[in-house]
Amino acid sequence: MTLGRRGRTSGVCGARPAPPEATSASLLVLLYHNVGPLPRGRALAAHHLPVPRFRGQLRYLKRRGYTFVTAAQALDWLDSSLPDVTHPVLVTFDDGLADLHTYAVPVLQEEQVPALLFMVAGRVGGMSSWMPHPAHRHNPMLTWEQLREFQAAGVSIGSHTLTHTHLTEIPATQAVQELRESKRVLEEHLQEQVTTLAYPFGEFNPAVAQVAQEAGYRAAFSTLPGLNTPETDRCALRRVNIRRWTLFGRKIRRVESK
Ligand SMILES: [Zn+2]
Repeated sequence: MTLGRRGRTSGVCGARPAPPEATSASLLVLLYHNVGPLPRGRALAAHHLPVPRFRGQLRYLKRRGYTFVTAAQALDWLDSSLPDVTHPVLVTFDDGLADLHTYAVPVLQEEQVPALLFMVAGRVGGMSSWMPHPAHRHNPMLTWEQLREFQAAGVSIGSHTLTHTHLTEIPATQAVQELRESKRVLEEHLQEQVTTLAYPFGEFNPAVAQVAQEAGYRAAFSTLPGLNTPETDRCALRRVNIRRWTLFGRKIRRVESK
């Protein structure tokens, strides 16, 4: 039996559905993939941000009055236990490509911005072999040593499953393994509790969300667009996807106005 149809529906983690309109008291979560020079052959170009653009986006948010928060602070804020923080924003990265160590970490340190990295736990030190296009499958992934340096730089590590699989298409027992084992492996190597998950390809459904909850995740992030409030389902948290050609300021203002 599989965990059901492929989709991007809301989860069932016991929380209420998001309200139709976000208020100014909302948590913004940004989704990035990679930062650095454009790879040869323009592979992954759409998900690859030049360093100056990445830095500029962080500074834009500071000027706009946002407060950068850690993953733990973001979840505390959603639980209404950080009432003094206004306009919180959490920076997240998916996959864990090695370029992040070279190019994103120095910017995060210079700008004193914490972040959350969702690592494909079964590909640490390996290659991006799960990617659909053959030209994208040979990007080196972060090593354990580099991940420890991320931690030292204020970056929390979350799970992006073991193999970057399609969670809604695989047998239920396999999905359980992907979520439980990735958490266990990351915690064992990094000596830090792993409480967050990002669904590969943004794919989840109520059954997958239930598995995430039972595996012990405090929160799971989707690719549903929009802002988060204390009412947002913790197993269907929303993120604003930032791509190479995203008109950043316009996109942020549009998300804020909805
Ligand atoms: Zn991914």
